[in-house]
Amino acid sequence: MFNSLKGLVVTLVSTMHGLRAPVTRQYPDTGNVLTGRVSEPTPVKDRFMGFPALTWDGEIGEPFCTSCMVCIRQCPTQCMTSVMKDNPLHEEGKSDRRKIVDSFEINLNRCILCGICVEVCNFDAIVMSHEHEMSTFSRNGDRVDLPELLEIGQKFQRETDWIPPTKRVKVQKGEDSETADAAADSESP
Ligand code: SF4
Ligand code: SF4
Repeated sequence: MFNSLKGLVVTLVSTMHGLRAPVTRQYPDTGNVLTGRVSEPTPVKDRFMGFPALTWDGEIGEPFCTSCMVCIRQCPTQCMTSVMKDNPLHEEGKSDRRKIVDSFEINLNRCILCGICVEVCNFDAIVMSHEHEMSTFSRNGDRVDLPELLEIGQKFQRETDWIPPTKRVKVQKGEDSETADAAADSESP
């Protein structure tokens, strides 16, 4: 008798659990077929590491990347290539960067999202963006070039109120009051 009641309770508890809203989500999310409403993708956290992308220096109007090749040499899967050129804005006296990136390509199909390229870059030029939905049906379908890498990077910069890490260090040392104000704004709720 007692065992029968125990079994009944277990069944009831399982049934109650079945009525709760699911904690998992279907991927890709096709929305609700009855209402035709398509749900928003699950938002990622700021610290989420998606595909690497290049950052844009809005103050000068050029990429941060000088094509110094440090990240390319350190990448464990050798999935990046780049070419540098003389920076025309340096010649005009508008930029401190004597060299600038001319072309850059990452084969994201080979990227293992390790973040080493971001760690070794001395110029705040590359970030682990939030981009992660880039699957394709072809082996080389995810070779992304400089304009696309900058587009993904700028989207990430906007979404996270990105401040170059070297500027953040200056802020922590109290050497950059202008950026300190921006950092305080971006960190306030
Ligand atoms: S992303 Fe950074 S490390 Fe890589 S080539 Fe550009 S400046 Fe150099
Ligand atoms: S995240 Fe890792 S594998 Fe991907 S490009 Fe950077 S260094 Fe290479």
